[in-house]
Amino acid sequence: MAPFNLTFYSEKNGRKGLVDAIREICVSLDCDTSCTPDCYREWEEKLSQISLAKRLSVKSCTHGFLCFVLALPENRNLPDYLIGCVAFEHQGRITHVTRAQTPDASDTTIVKSKQTLRSVSAPEAELAIREISHILPQILDGQIHALSLSRTTQRLEAVQKLNRDLADCTDVDHAMNIVSEALVVLFNLPRILIVLQKPGQAMTVHSTLGLDPDSLKLDQKRLAEYLDGSSCQPRVMPGNEFTEFFHGLQTRSAHIFPIGVKDCRLGIIVILDLDLHSRDQAMIELLINGLAARLESLETAASHQQESQFSARLISMISDLSLVTNSKELYQKILEMAAELLSASSGSLMLLNESDGTLKIETAKGMNPALAKAMSVTFGEGIAGHVAKSGFPMLVNDIERDKRVAYRNRPRFKTKSFISLPLESEGRLIGVLNLADKSNGSSFTEKDLNRLKTFTGYAVPMIARAATLEKVGKFEQLAITDPLTGLYNRRFLEDRLQEEFSRSGRHKQNFCIILADLDNFKMYNDICGHLAGDQVLRKVASLLRRTARDMDVVSRYGGEEFCIILPGTGKKESVFVGERMRRVIEVESFPGENHLPLGRLTISLGIASFPADGVTANELIHASDLALYQAKAMGRNRLVLFEPSLEGKALPALRG
Ligand code: GH3
Ligand code: MG
Ligand code: MG
Repeated sequence: MAPFNLTFYSEKNGRKGLVDAIREICVSLDCDTSCTPDCYREWEEKLSQISLAKRLSVKSCTHGFLCFVLALPENRNLPDYLIGCVAFEHQGRITHVTRAQTPDASDTTIVKSKQTLRSVSAPEAELAIREISHILPQILDGQIHALSLSRTTQRLEAVQKLNRDLADCTDVDHAMNIVSEALVVLFNLPRILIVLQKPGQAMTVHSTLGLDPDSLKLDQKRLAEYLDGSSCQPRVMPGNEFTEFFHGLQTRSAHIFPIGVKDCRLGIIVILDLDLHSRDQAMIELLINGLAARLESLETAASHQQESQFSARLISMISDLSLVTNSKELYQKILEMAAELLSASSGSLMLLNESDGTLKIETAKGMNPALAKAMSVTFGEGIAGHVAKSGFPMLVNDIERDKRVAYRNRPRFKTKSFISLPLESEGRLIGVLNLADKSNGSSFTEKDLNRLKTFTGYAVPMIARAATLEKVGKFEQLAITDPLTGLYNRRFLEDRLQEEFSRSGRHKQNFCIILADLDNFKMYNDICGHLAGDQVLRKVASLLRRTARDMDVVSRYGGEEFCIILPGTGKKESVFVGERMRRVIEVESFPGENHLPLGRLTISLGIASFPADGVTANELIHASDLALYQAKAMGRNRLVLFEPSLEGKALPALRG
């Protein structure tokens, strides 16, 4: 009805009321009132007809305006009539000029009106009048509530369905698309801005609607400060306040909806330039809460996966370290591995020389080796010396701003962030591990530091052990034992196996090997944690050692796999030994084992014998692997002897 001039009239106001109502319209149309007396009479006549027969009457007035009068439903709280008037066009011309019937109508008045009036075409005017005559009585009858209720219900149902869709989303972008599409389609929002923050990363404008993203400049720091300080409640902000976060943005107001379950750290959705009805606001909140819950769980799943990848990598690193044969190689590997875990492109491993109290760089990465060799740091001086003295790690985000570093001599790093970690063995400082220059240019985080601590928790005892063994000239022993379990390692096993082949071949003797693998051990680690997993490995190793006979060689073959050589033993006898081992593990109790599928921690075993099942190390291991796989396939916690029919069955990667 925008181009119409509207007013209400009630019969109880009498003739004067009508005069006033009509005059109000004429004045707002900028029309003179010379036709007033005739016009009133006409209206009075029309009104009397309306109340008797029909609700709506339309006429052209003396000056050619299109007028209507609509009787409203009888209700003592309402006026009786709605009166409206509009200038309308016919074939491109405003008709009230041509249709003016009074010869004395002043042309100047009409010309003025023509310039300032908004006009509609005749069909538009008729349509508008018909619609308002249809809708208004319904609205006034109270049906507006029914109408809006049904619309609200529809929206609510849609929001509910979208929340279900969100719960099924497997990636962030898909979830964001669902929400932004809903905001546009369901709530008809003109301009939207979505800012997301991934953990440990800067905030980014994820998407904009009705805005040119290139024209906006996000002030990260201010927005982060605001979010840190604000409660997680939606809030409306005046445009000029909000534009402090986004330079270049013009807006009247900003309705900010934080995305987050417990805090607002996932980002914000901002609706610009719109006063939201509280009902819509509540529904939008519902949708955004669904989004937040999904984003949080996606993040948790992603970090869980990262953790599990980290654990797997850590395990394989530690088992690699256990094969190292000299201390120089050990230092190099430790530094390489630490750098890999944290994506650092430079670093150094320093060890403390107790006699003169200096820290000497044993190995360095991203640094000239000759330079590294020549460098030594005095205890208590420089960053590493300070870390060594204090015993506390240093995680620096920005070397130029960190007060702890500013007054010390600064090392020359490419990026501004580094980690310096003291290495301690049994309460004594043995060195410092430094890492710098994260390969993607970002800063190191607390998480990096924690990962490094976990890794050095395993690596440092190896350094200490290497140092002790080297002192007493027994490094070879280090090379053949597994540090976690104390059993022989794989390298030793392979050498020993070769010997066994030639010995047994010469003496025409049998021998057997048993390959044993813990059942569902990945699950055990996932449920009880890696430390508990390590304890289990130690205990299993010691049980196997005790159950084996003196002449047997028990080794840790891989992560949770063991290989036992049974010299001079035939198949039948080896089954007794293997079965005893299976049983010992089955009856032993391990913390948390009740959560495993078999209700207890168990082991599966495969046996192969020389010379029947293989005459080389590869053949024999392969045969025992097939038997072990068969034991797993048959339900685990059992022992299987190799037989040639197993050869045709697929062998999955049992060994990592
Ligand atoms: P299956 O019954 O088929 O053998 O299942 P599984 O879960 O034992 O087998 P899989 O090879 O998938 O997983 C082996 C797991 O053993 C992976 C890793 O979590 C765990 N593991 C390997 N080495 C170590 C270790 O040194 N310490 C700890 N705590 N866990 C280890
Ligand atoms: Mg296993
Ligand atoms: Mg395995």
